[in-house]
Amino acid sequence: MCNGRLIADGVHALTDLVSDITTLATISYSLKPPTSRFPFGYGKVESLGALGVSGLLLSGGIMIGLQAVLALTQQFFPELGHMLSSLGLFEHVHDHSHHHGSDFLGPNINAAWLAGGSIIIKEWLYRSTIKIARDKRSSVLASNAYHHRVDSLTAFVALLTIVASNFITNAQWLDPVGGLAISGMIVQAGWFNTKSALLELADVAMDEDIKQSVQSSAKATLEEHFGQDAELRGVQGIKSGQNFLVELEVAVAESLSIGRAQEIEEQVRQRIAAKVRGVKRVVVRFTDSSKREEAFVDEFVAGRASDGEEEAHDHEHDHDHGHEETAKGKSTSLASNGDKMGSRTGKGQFVLKDLDDEVDAILASSKAPSTTTASSDPATGLLGTATSRLTGLFRNVVGGKTLTKADLQQPLQLMQTHLLEKNVAREAAERLCQSVETDLLDHKTAGFTSIETTIRESMSKALTRILTPTSSLDLLRDVTSTTSGSNERPYVISIVGVNGVGKSTNLSKIAYFLLQNQFRVLVVAGDTFRSGAVEQLRVHVKNLSALSQRENVGKVELFEKGYGKDAATVARDAVTFATNGGHHGQGMLYDVVLIDTAGRRHNDSRLMSSLTKFGQLANPDKIFMVGEALVGTDSVAQARNFAKEFVDTKGKLRNNGVGMDGFIISKCDTVGDMVGTLVSMVHATGIPVVFLGVGQHYGDLRGLNVGWAVERLMR
Ligand code: GDP
Repeated sequence: MCNGRLIADGVHALTDLVSDITTLATISYSLKPPTSRFPFGYGKVESLGALGVSGLLLSGGIMIGLQAVLALTQQFFPELGHMLSSLGLFEHVHDHSHHHGSDFLGPNINAAWLAGGSIIIKEWLYRSTIKIARDKRSSVLASNAYHHRVDSLTAFVALLTIVASNFITNAQWLDPVGGLAISGMIVQAGWFNTKSALLELADVAMDEDIKQSVQSSAKATLEEHFGQDAELRGVQGIKSGQNFLVELEVAVAESLSIGRAQEIEEQVRQRIAAKVRGVKRVVVRFTDSSKREEAFVDEFVAGRASDGEEEAHDHEHDHDHGHEETAKGKSTSLASNGDKMGSRTGKGQFVLKDLDDEVDAILASSKAPSTTTASSDPATGLLGTATSRLTGLFRNVVGGKTLTKADLQQPLQLMQTHLLEKNVAREAAERLCQSVETDLLDHKTAGFTSIETTIRESMSKALTRILTPTSSLDLLRDVTSTTSGSNERPYVISIVGVNGVGKSTNLSKIAYFLLQNQFRVLVVAGDTFRSGAVEQLRVHVKNLSALSQRENVGKVELFEKGYGKDAATVARDAVTFATNGGHHGQGMLYDVVLIDTAGRRHNDSRLMSSLTKFGQLANPDKIFMVGEALVGTDSVAQARNFAKEFVDTKGKLRNNGVGMDGFIISKCDTVGDMVGTLVSMVHATGIPVVFLGVGQHYGDLRGLNVGWAVERLMR
């Protein structure tokens, strides 16, 4: 009997120990900051601990109940009790059903003191632990607190039995009855805690009171700091141990800048962290305030994966369908993001941003095609590229050396391979390396400068020279000077290029840029050839018109004569219309005439030659060719073939013998570091890069930052 009681006490002490250790261990673990392995922190470790501790409590409660039942059965129905214990299940039950039983303590007054002391200490432990548990909302601490309460209750029953045994002769039944009552309470608490731990592990939503506090803090911050700019649409979150991981949905205008959005997120995060205890992570999701949707509806992939919708999505990107629905589909994604695009000068002029490091974010968020990803990732892409081989080879050469052809041969070969890997056409790469060789031959390397560094510096200079325009590319100034003064007339720009490179999209981006500068723009549907082209442009103009009205800038309209007409004649008529509306004395109606042209393959000589007539009849101030950043080598041939068509009536190439005025390199957002096409096109033609397309929004147009491009190429 005594042996059994000792075992029971041992088991009890062990569960207490396990419970305490689990509590301590999981709590300290759960407060660790997030790591890349556990990006949401370690809170769930505490939830797991809570499950363990409450599981112990629950099973302890059940065991006490069963023991009590058996003890009572043995007292009142000895045969049944004997049968039950003979099942083996409750082998020692009668021994340790309650170790504080009256037969053990009897009327011993010391035992009564012990029990009394135990009640006080354990109850105090329970109360202080549960207070912290509630305060910290820690389920593992709460479960642990109940362990103390079990001990206090058990001592209470023992005391009761001791006292009762002084008055009642046979008070043995008191102990198991008390045990039953305790068991009921423990099972209830154990089940409650086990359930909460399980729900927490299954990511149940956080408690309503926390949600309310988060909501009111966020609302207050938004109203105080951002007024009409931002509206709280939803709050959700989960509990992870003592931590709450919260998500908010905030509706903002589509044109809100990233900077402003970040500011909103930071303010909201700080306020919630200060006001709502336990909130460890606050993520803000921004949605378009013009759309009225339930919060967080479209977050899950599963919710969108219906086949029909997927088809619609594909269609949206397939410009070859070309008809109105396609253009309409695009129009949703082509909404403005003008704030990102540029900024206003003191004089109110809207200037485009250069393409620089901002593009890193664009690149990160867009999918680069698989052929380019390997090299576009700086962490892995350069591993094993020519640059790293270069680095390895020449790191130890420390300068002061007069360079010979032999010294330069191998590193230049590696440099050439590197340029090819960056999408620079072979012809341009070879020429660049030749010029570096000429530059460095017989050159003495500077002290502590390796051949590799010397070559890189020389190549950077050569690339900078090529990419830097020789004449000013200030389009706004040109437009302003042409459209004002006594000889005012509309400024004419036409956009050419092969099919599908992004002519109409980038034409629209330029229109948007001009509208931002309050110019009146006439867009001319000069592609009278490809079915759907006119409709596509009409949708763009409609969108741009809506945007310009909303933003109260410029004005834009479409000039079109349908299909089959001679594009050169349509263009000329459009210019006349813009000049005076077709009537003398009416005055200039538009500042800029932007002419779209039919896409054509650069090796289709029949269509290509019609460009010559177009150039002469429409006589544009600027002819910009759109080339894709992706294309690579073919871009050189395209650029050459287009440029050579633009001759004047005397057979002389326009723009001082180079034919065209500038390139718009589209889809730069899809190529990562492989910006070599810029170099190839400029190198082959001497025509500068004027704009870069960096996405499918009207605001996704940038100027070229030569330093940025060179740095990319030399990475
Ligand atoms: P066009 O046939 O030359 O007029 O070409 P479109 O203007 O119809 O453009 C062809 C496709 O390229 C469309 O899906 C455009 O949205 C897309 N596009 C144009 N410019 C860019 C750009 O800078 N980046 C990206 N990612 N896509 C672009």
